Amino acid sequence: MSKEHRIMSGMRPTAKLHLGNMMGALMNWVKLQDEYECFYSVVDWHALTTGYADTSELKEYINEMVIDWLSVGLNPEKCNIFVQSQVKEHAELHLLLSMITPLSWLERCPTYKEQLRQLEGREINTYGFLGYPVLMTADILAYKADRVPVGEDQAPHLELAREIVRRFNYLYKPVFPEPEALYTEAKILPGIDGRKMSKSYDNYIAISASPEEIRKKVMMMVTDPKRIKKSDSGHPEVCTVYAFNKVFGEKDKVNELGESCKKALIGCVECKKNLADLLIKYMEPIHERRKIYEKDPNLIKDILDLGAKKARDVASKTLEEVREAMKI
Ligand code: SF4
Repeated sequence: MSKEHRIMSGMRPTAKLHLGNMMGALMNWVKLQDEYECFYSVVDWHALTTGYADTSELKEYINEMVIDWLSVGLNPEKCNIFVQSQVKEHAELHLLLSMITPLSWLERCPTYKEQLRQLEGREINTYGFLGYPVLMTADILAYKADRVPVGEDQAPHLELAREIVRRFNYLYKPVFPEPEALYTEAKILPGIDGRKMSKSYDNYIAISASPEEIRKKVMMMVTDPKRIKKSDSGHPEVCTVYAFNKVFGEKDKVNELGESCKKALIGCVECKKNLADLLIKYMEPIHERRKIYEKDPNLIKDILDLGAKKARDVASKTLEEVREAMKI
């Protein structure tokens, strides 16, 4: 398959990745690496936009994130994996693009206001935080990526990136393609308490969770609150255990489970045990791969060094064009 389109995407190393990240984004990345030329970056500078005060765990999170990526199936022979701060061209391009980006474009960005609200109490009223969509734009444009996998919440950022491209191309010369959104099917997993799976709610199952941890978390999952006794008929559509089955189970078996639940033919404890078995089996090959990388830290270092080199090769050419277009 030809790889005529280039993708750039990143993740912020602010916490351990969980099964929600795996099914929502990472599994798509794994698929995309066969169809597109992919640049996947651990965007550590982005982590600083909200977490600049305590950086004690940043290196550990970067390492863990790369191990998670590789263990779920990203293959450095098919895609390019690197750490953002090892490619300084991102910073130069961010600076140059910030010169042409009107403040009002950043202030009206809906995710900016939303995050300010959500992270109330944390001092993020900073220059860096306001400008992070420009950094994100620089991440994409450094590789002239023409496709960006986005969830709906990131769509405003991509629109902003497209506006910045148009402005740059108009002011100087057409250097950048307008990146287009690549909407991929994201499987949504709830947290074990039924809310969105998130580190801040402490309701997640980490990709690195051991079989014992998986079992423990599954046994804590909230089920149909109206089902008090085993003889009560259940409502699988409101049950977290069922939601997990829909993502990880085979379609026929999931339908069967739904019917058994409604007819009170299965109890929640048994149902949870079955789900724990299913998840543990699903995660087995991922955990096996994880062990290989955990045992050999040099392997990760080599992958990241090579990834950064390949990224720099591309980004430095883009920056040459940018400087030439801007006559600097
Ligand atoms: Fe949920 Fe399973 Fe209990 Fe039904 S039987 S409510 S699907 S845990």
